[in-house]
Amino acid sequence: MKRFALAGNPNCGKTTLFNSLTGSTAHVGNWPGVTVDKKEGVYKKLKEPLEIIDLPGIYSLSPYTPEEVISRNYILEEKPSCVINIVDATNLERNLYLTTQLLEIDVPIVIALNMMDVVKKNGNSIDVSALEKKIGVPVVEISALKEEHLDELMNKAYEASLISRKGKTVLMDSALKHLIQDVEIAFKGKNIDHPLFHAIKLVEKDELEIQDHPDLLPIVEDFKATFKDDTFGGDFEAIIADRRYQYIAKNFSPALSKKETSKEKLTRSDKIDKVLTNKWLGIPIFLIILLVVFHLTFSENLFFLGFLFSDVPPSFADSPFEGLLWTSGGINSPGVILFNLLESITTLISDGVSDLLTLWNAEAWVSSFIVDGVLGGLFAVLSFLPQILLLFLFFSILEDSGYMARVAFILDRIFRRFGLSGRAFMPMIMGFGCSVPAMINTRTLADDKERTATIRVIPFFSCGAKLPILTAIAGGIVEHFHIGNADFITFAMYIIGMLTAIISVIIMRNTSMKGDVPPFIMELPSYHIPQGKALMVHLWDKLKHFIKKAFTIILASTIVIWFLSNFAWNWSYVDGAMDESILASLGKFIQPIFTPLGFGVQLASFGWVFAVAAVTGLIAKENVIATFYTLAICIISHAEAGTLVISPEVIDQIRALSEASDDGIIETVAMIEATGITWPSLISFITFNMTTIPCFAAVATAKAELPKKKLGSTIVFWLVTSYITSCIVYLVLSFWWTIFIILPLFIICGVVIHFINKYLDQKKALQN
Ligand code: GDP
Ligand code: MG
Repeated sequence: MKRFALAGNPNCGKTTLFNSLTGSTAHVGNWPGVTVDKKEGVYKKLKEPLEIIDLPGIYSLSPYTPEEVISRNYILEEKPSCVINIVDATNLERNLYLTTQLLEIDVPIVIALNMMDVVKKNGNSIDVSALEKKIGVPVVEISALKEEHLDELMNKAYEASLISRKGKTVLMDSALKHLIQDVEIAFKGKNIDHPLFHAIKLVEKDELEIQDHPDLLPIVEDFKATFKDDTFGGDFEAIIADRRYQYIAKNFSPALSKKETSKEKLTRSDKIDKVLTNKWLGIPIFLIILLVVFHLTFSENLFFLGFLFSDVPPSFADSPFEGLLWTSGGINSPGVILFNLLESITTLISDGVSDLLTLWNAEAWVSSFIVDGVLGGLFAVLSFLPQILLLFLFFSILEDSGYMARVAFILDRIFRRFGLSGRAFMPMIMGFGCSVPAMINTRTLADDKERTATIRVIPFFSCGAKLPILTAIAGGIVEHFHIGNADFITFAMYIIGMLTAIISVIIMRNTSMKGDVPPFIMELPSYHIPQGKALMVHLWDKLKHFIKKAFTIILASTIVIWFLSNFAWNWSYVDGAMDESILASLGKFIQPIFTPLGFGVQLASFGWVFAVAAVTGLIAKENVIATFYTLAICIISHAEAGTLVISPEVIDQIRALSEASDDGIIETVAMIEATGITWPSLISFITFNMTTIPCFAAVATAKAELPKKKLGSTIVFWLVTSYITSCIVYLVLSFWWTIFIILPLFIICGVVIHFINKYLDQKKALQN
């Protein structure tokens, strides 16, 4: 079957066109070795069926991003019958930059001028025949969205695919003309396909090209030695880029004629930009939008209307809607309503299954396995889904409308100081909601190392599920030690998480994940009203990995932990007495490791609970407090047997609990009394939970999103970071003067890294 490849800038409408052409035949897979989606489908309206491939969106054919390498290799090596280059006609000049590079490849090309509906609506027009003459390949005006002229496009593409085509370049009037010609002859001598393309890339000193053809590099080096032009510091890559843009401006752009008035009058897009990307207003506006998105997703007091509707209206009281729509003191946001809805459904299923099992006289361990192990674990993971979905929906709207590109642009300058680009900001902020969508969102980062560093620190932005740990333990500290204020402690914990993130990013970007932040080349697409169909496609794209993982890795690991916490070494079911389980003995075994963190062997008999809670927290962070509850129940029997001293009030309070308390404070106090843990150790324990390996859902996502072979080192990174951070927190809070040892140590490390880097840079400069 003939293969037609769609190539173009991100946001030019490739996916929309792909969907219109292929309909239900579309099939999504992965490009080998990377997490970039590979979409394939069949176009059936011509006399023979054609395979259509949606290449990743790219701005150029340089080897800077995985997308660029994939698209480039596909066109060069897989030799499609025709490349359909989609050009966003509302952004003609910048889109044609890629076109000038595609034209250099020996492959039939047809240009699809997309978004013509918008161009026409703005009163502008494009002289297609003039453009066609200048570019030298067929040009067709289309609207992928309105499905206009798609048949004409495919007919032209089919005709083009029947004739072979030699690459052509727009660089023939540049000072580098002779060099390019010489290198091209050398490539032809080596019998290499696409000699013109390779020649130009070698002149640009493209990494991949130098790697593959080091023998031809001297031709370029010799020419460079005698080259006098000093513009762009003699950098050939810059000179070539400049030539391309100049050529486009002089030869291609005149085909576009703008409406008389629209030259002076700002387009609507420009007008919106005057406000949204304003130097002063830009960031505040973005923060407000962000706050609204989070508010709609996570708030239990929608629009702060709680003061008006603090009581459930009588007509709703005791109806099923009550718990769904109201939380004491406020109305629920759509996110919380969806969350509650799913929760009531899953509770219904669990209860039903549990009743059935009782009816059938199932063994206790069987019902626990099915209800707590399989269903409990699965539902814990799925419970994130509604809010993740909603968060994604909002962010997809912001993305599709073209706003996100601007946010990245505004923030780029600040983020560069930490060694990240502006696009790393979004995933980090999303991390406060849930690490899963946040990690998926790092797909917008071009550089693998930057992406790895970002994925690693996302869990430090404390997610919604960690909040219950924070509030329970902060509450417990205030209740038992009578110090501080729970809100303040919680807030301080968020700050500790963020500081850990910033410091570890700086360290990584200077050591293992070193690399330049790629320059911010990104066109600002004009604003679009997002389309429902495209939104759904994007949503599904992002969620499918998560759902697949929920039913495999996550389920398997949940079952393993269920088994460890419900069975003793002699294979007998412990039936709630968790202190006899395998997990408990493992907890006792690893307990000494936590001594430097303040919750190891210095604690009394029940001290291992903290080690165990950290492990159960891996399923879902809510489990940390649930584990406290299970153990608080065990504690009672020990207190009665006289093997443990607990104050009678606490025992009474625990007895009064029929299930885990809402805020987890009683359980925490019970744990404090049973173990004699101090408050610095408790803070260290929270820090550990916040910065260590995140829940299984996040780990599974990290596995899917990280570059190959990076998961192992990432898990080590999480363990090491949480260990060091908690240790520092414990030491400083217990013995304040240790700060005078830790701080200088940090500074010395920083200075050493700085000088090593300087030395390495110098060595590299000498080699070149
Ligand atoms: P991709 O990144 O190249 O795959 O681009 P998409 O197909 O996701 O399209 C980006 C945005 O442009 C979406 O919001 C589309 O609905 C919109 N879009 C695509 N083609 C057209 C078109 O022909 N006209 C208009 N008005 N919008 C379009
Ligand atoms: Mg796309």
